[in-house]
Amino acid sequence: MSGCPRCEKKQLRVEHKGYENNQLVWTIYYCHSCSFSWRDTEPETTIVHQKRDSFFRVEMDRKEKYPIVLPPGLI
Ligand SMILES: [Zn+2]
Repeated sequence: MSGCPRCEKKQLRVEHKGYENNQLVWTIYYCHSCSFSWRDTEPETTIVHQKRDSFFRVEMDRKEKYPIVLPPGLI
């Protein structure tokens, strides 16, 4: 995994690994930078930053683009 599909940062961790008959079949990653998580078996339009729709990308260095942050519990 080269970077987060949403923000391209490299601070990732493995959340879960899925096994079937002792074979690894999927891995879920988590991004410490933007809190996105994804499974490595999702479509490339979801998990490859360059193929992801720009509307669903996040520019962490331009936080002024996202003026509304909902506090936890309001959703
Ligand atoms: Zn991210």
